[in-house]
Amino acid sequence: MGEQEAERKGQCLCGKVHFKLKLQSAAVHVCHCNLCRKHHGGPSITASCVANSVQIDSKDHALKWYQSSEWAERGFCGECGTNMFCKLLGDEPMYYGVSAALLDRQDDLFTEEHIFVDKKPHYYKFEDDCKKLTEAQFLAQFS
Ligand SMILES: [Zn+2]
Ligand SMILES: [Zn+2]
Repeated sequence: MGEQEAERKGQCLCGKVHFKLKLQSAAVHVCHCNLCRKHHGGPSITASCVANSVQIDSKDHALKWYQSSEWAERGFCGECGTNMFCKLLGDEPMYYGVSAALLDRQDDLFTEEHIFVDKKPHYYKFEDDCKKLTEAQFLAQFS
């Protein structure tokens, strides 16, 4: 962290949706909330973008946005179904996440924390020393 992040590129599985963006840092977080698990088929592994750096090139309007809660929406490719973005609503969202798996450079990424760990089902587990936050602990950071 501290160092200026270089621009990264990425795309969905079928290639109709391309993007360029800058990350806040190389840290990714793993979210175990019900919404992420339904949308991703498992926990989401996401990096935080600099919101105004995100440039999306979507062929045939392939990128779709689904408002998954009162405060957030999720972007996915309508052609191949890749789950790409999750952001707070609004023009300059305070949070704009991108699925880490889509980035062209991943070698420097590292898991910083697990969130919504109290929502994690029993059938999978991660054995690491990263910070683990419950929903209440996570949301308390923003209040
Ligand atoms: Zn696609
Ligand atoms: Zn989540």
